[in-house]
Amino acid sequence: MILAYWNALRVNDDVVVHDDDHVGFALSSGTVTAVESRRGSNGVTVRITNADGTGRKVHPKRLATHLHTGDSRLECWRCERRTGPRNPSLGRP
Ligand SMILES: [Zn+2]
Repeated sequence: MILAYWNALRVNDDVVVHDDDHVGFALSSGTVTAVESRRGSNGVTVRITNADGTGRKVHPKRLATHLHTGDSRLECWRCERRTGPRNPSLGRP
């Protein structure tokens, strides 16, 4: 997520977060539960709700987080690892 969007996140905003502990960088939907204003890049807490209804709070990295509606302004290497490069002619793995 670009820095301007990240710093504009507010409580109850919906986001999608990569799980860096998952080998496939799985994406999970979540809701922002807290925002800590910081110089530069805010601290954001997100509640992830699992399919079984249980949840957990995470502190995702900005670049491992996307707007719920998508964020086409930033290429994401985690998404590319999951789905392949956007433009195969770029030659990236
Ligand atoms: Zn991504």
